[in-house]
Amino acid sequence: MEVNIERADRVKNLPPYFFAEIDKMIDRAREEGVDVISFGIGDPDLPTPDHIVTAMKEAVSDPSTHSYPSYEGLYEFREAVCDWYDERFSVNLDPEAEIVSLIGSKEGLAHFPFCYINKGDLALVPDPAYPVYETAVVMAGGSTVSLPMTPENDFLVDLSEVPEEKLKKAKLLFINYPNNPTGAVANREFFREIVDYARKYEFLVVHDAAYSEIGFDGHEPPSFLEVEGAKEVGIEFGSLSKTFNMTGWRLGWALGNEEMIDALSTIKTNVDSGVFEAIQRAGITALKGDKSCIEKMQEVYKKRRDLLVSGLNDLGWDVKPNKGSFYLWIEIPESYEDSQEFSEDVFKETGVFLTPGIGYGDAGERFVRLALTVTEERIKEALDRLEEFFKLRR
Ligand SMILES: *Cc1c(COP(=O)(O)O)cnc(C)c1O
Repeated sequence: MEVNIERADRVKNLPPYFFAEIDKMIDRAREEGVDVISFGIGDPDLPTPDHIVTAMKEAVSDPSTHSYPSYEGLYEFREAVCDWYDERFSVNLDPEAEIVSLIGSKEGLAHFPFCYINKGDLALVPDPAYPVYETAVVMAGGSTVSLPMTPENDFLVDLSEVPEEKLKKAKLLFINYPNNPTGAVANREFFREIVDYARKYEFLVVHDAAYSEIGFDGHEPPSFLEVEGAKEVGIEFGSLSKTFNMTGWRLGWALGNEEMIDALSTIKTNVDSGVFEAIQRAGITALKGDKSCIEKMQEVYKKRRDLLVSGLNDLGWDVKPNKGSFYLWIEIPESYEDSQEFSEDVFKETGVFLTPGIGYGDAGERFVRLALTVTEERIKEALDRLEEFFKLRR
């Protein structure tokens, strides 16, 4: 007898992880000796600041960090996040009830739909978007309504375009500003409208604020929770990953509505056992310590952005600088069928990898995403190669 290793429908129905295929293609090229310049990496190339690494080293040597951590996170960590929210956004939060620590915000974003989505329930999800929102809703048994984000609406989701019966049926709305993949930002007015919609149609709002500290040209990204009434309808996810170059460390949080935080904590106590305390202590150092590293990081991305935008525009592209996050979202040349064809063509001829927009949803079909996680020197090299590429096509 053979065992039955047929996968459950929830796994069978997951889309193949688009980016895993891409990684394979890039690895293969590297093995063949191609000098790959990848603009595909949504992961800071800069190291975690020294003072945070030092705090981690000390914490790791302290045996009291070696046991199971508390489920909801160290009180001091939750308090450090709340203090930072007060200082940065003037948002008051109760560290006892209105925040839970996460093993990176992706973990919480993926678990959250399990708290509120029953079979057949609807969630409103931007298109394009970080793929986790949709897959999590689908794994929880729900389905999604796409909210197209286009240059015409400045990549802000437009709920007035959604049929009323869908708004009425929706249980959750996901938003994310500064945005991955479009680089768009939102202001408080937009968040106010979202709160009005949430109240009127009685859905919950999930704001993914992973890039809250990456704004350019004077834009300081606001928190969704700054808006009156926001805490009654939603929660915000945040993380040290992008702010302090700590993607590998896995430390984030969800905060806001007490009942929603409690629901997420309930799921989590049944699934995981919290975040290594040494990492949380390092997180406290990050949040309470010297923040000049954040300004330095913003400077680095801004210089790269300006170099890349002006270089691409010199090549005849029409690229607008992103206002936040570290992505450029660029329309592909008209002569191309779709983003994948364009990306593959560029990669084969130049070794420069641009992420096909289709990986973030149907609305990304005519776009590529360029991450600013490449040094200026390599950006220049990439621009030289792209110039050759476009010359041959003129
Ligand atoms: C990087 C990223 C995250 C954060 O992930 P962590 O799990 O906190 O490392 C969340 N949302 C978006 C849109 C991201 O790009």
